[in-house]
Amino acid sequence: AHDSKTMRYEFYTPELNRGANERFKLESDLRRAVGQDELVLHYQPQVDLRTGRVVGMEALIRWQHPEFGLIPPGRFIAIAEETGLIVPIGAWVLRTACVQIREWQRAGQSELRIGINLSARQFEQHDLASMIAAVLEETGLEARFLDLELTESMVMKDVETAIGILNDLKTLGVQLSIDDFGTGYSSLSYLKRFPIDVLKIDQSFVRGIAQHSNDAAISGAIISMAHSLGIRVIAEGVETEEQCAYLSQKLCEEIQGYLFSEPLPASEIEVLLRDGKQL
Ligand code: C2E
Ligand code: CA
Ligand code: CA
Ligand code: CA
Repeated sequence: AHDSKTMRYEFYTPELNRGANERFKLESDLRRAVGQDELVLHYQPQVDLRTGRVVGMEALIRWQHPEFGLIPPGRFIAIAEETGLIVPIGAWVLRTACVQIREWQRAGQSELRIGINLSARQFEQHDLASMIAAVLEETGLEARFLDLELTESMVMKDVETAIGILNDLKTLGVQLSIDDFGTGYSSLSYLKRFPIDVLKIDQSFVRGIAQHSNDAAISGAIISMAHSLGIRVIAEGVETEEQCAYLSQKLCEEIQGYLFSEPLPASEIEVLLRDGKQL
């Protein structure tokens, strides 16, 4: 018995241990973070390609950890999903972003829209639509200024149920977007059955627009297909003038990416809005 115990310990490599420990620590810290003002939202502008003006913002969460500094969502959203903490975190994101955008609207950006990422767990909450309705009511934000971003996998998992949920959300008057479009397995025949307003072309296609004719062709095809279904397009991860010019020529409605601005804290977004920054 003693031997097998020793053996067992030998299987834990230091790397594995560190990984497991870090995860465990992040998990317990995250429980605390939710109630302690450690979560922050950054905002990334979305720009209208015809006017060059900022028309929306995507809210992107970060975790200001007391020891580790600013942690990107890629390192804790999965943990939040698995533990269910994403439900209270998601509610906090929605509320905080709606309050913020309402403030910017009052300060003069009266038509500014806010995009929120919904997680699979949130999408499955039976009270999602009523929770969103309550936040809109409470913050005074008009529903048409709220854009809910969903992924293909969330809506394709159980199409009939998803259509029901999407219709409930549409009834509120919010905008619905499919995020990371082109990376998941989606069926074009279902796309027309979803009450979707926007497709966000994934950055993996946008990145290769100038170098790889395939990526340019895919981006162009997504845009024309979306338009033929009456769906608008936002291209993500736009970093260069060439990418921007190509998307503009293909009549893509909006771009989001480092070319215009990286995601910024609210105070820096205010400077950008005050200066009237344009593309
Ligand atoms: P996403 O929704 O696809 O967000 C876009 C990501 O691309 C963001 O990473 C953004 O900072 C990054 N990005 C924007 N422009 C550029 C660019 O020009 N070049 C490059 N290379 N990257 C660009 P971020 O902020 O690290 O977020 C990663 C993911 O975490 C998001 O991907 C989203 O899936 C998730 N996430 C972020 N905030 C939330 C949240 O509040 N709730 C949920 N459920 N997920 C969130
Ligand atoms: Ca997104
Ligand atoms: Ca995306
Ligand atoms: Ca993504």
